[in-house]
Amino acid sequence: MKLEADLHIHTLACGHGYSTVKEIAESAAQVGLKMIAITEHGLAMPGAPHQYYFENLSRIPVDLFGVEILKGVEANIINMHGCLDMPEGLLKRMDIVLAGFHAGTGMDGLSADEYTAAMIAAIRNPYVHVIVHPGNPEFPVDFDRVIMAGKERQKAFELNNSSLSASRLGSATRCSQFSRIIKKYNARVVINSDAHIFTEVGKCRNAINMAAINGLDESHVINTNIDRVKEYLYLHRQHLLDSAVLPA
Ligand SMILES: [Zn+2]
Ligand SMILES: [Zn+2]
Repeated sequence: MKLEADLHIHTLACGHGYSTVKEIAESAAQVGLKMIAITEHGLAMPGAPHQYYFENLSRIPVDLFGVEILKGVEANIINMHGCLDMPEGLLKRMDIVLAGFHAGTGMDGLSADEYTAAMIAAIRNPYVHVIVHPGNPEFPVDFDRVIMAGKERQKAFELNNSSLSASRLGSATRCSQFSRIIKKYNARVVINSDAHIFTEVGKCRNAINMAAINGLDESHVINTNIDRVKEYLYLHRQHLLDSAVLPA
């Protein structure tokens, strides 16, 4: 399985990343990616960029070194209602919104039932495109329930390569189990590097192998083709417009 897009990448701007946009885009071109998403951590993460950073994202060209650049955020789910740590005005301007749980952003120490409810609420948040690293054992969720909610809203989940190599230790067993349940429901995933340095861009071998071992193929993985990524983002843009005209 080959990926055409890597939709979860950090730069120097997140406070704990080590490469510039130029280094990231150049590296993406070198490894043959057609599209990347720059997705800095949301405002609640210690060291995250100021909201001016997100307001200024249009300065980044839409194409660098022949690679299409999406501008997004890896937002934090900050309450049981599935709210994110970004003002709505900014979420509206993002090409892609990833959402997940991170330590130190207000959701530590809750129960699996609470994490499940908060994640389902985030799935139903019309601004959210992808739920990141759902296999993180630090924030356990009921996989069947969240994947069913994802199916209902046509939302994809992430298989995160960094969870299998660099961070969120102990994720492998749960990520593998998650992949099997994705297969059971014929749901959709994206496979991302979660790179924090240019050398990691597009490096998703561990996650690709895990997906394949658990029976997932290109039909389950949206970012094996950039036209599918664009269709997916377009679909949710339309849902957002539809939900905006519904009575409150
Ligand atoms: Zn990070
Ligand atoms: Zn990340």
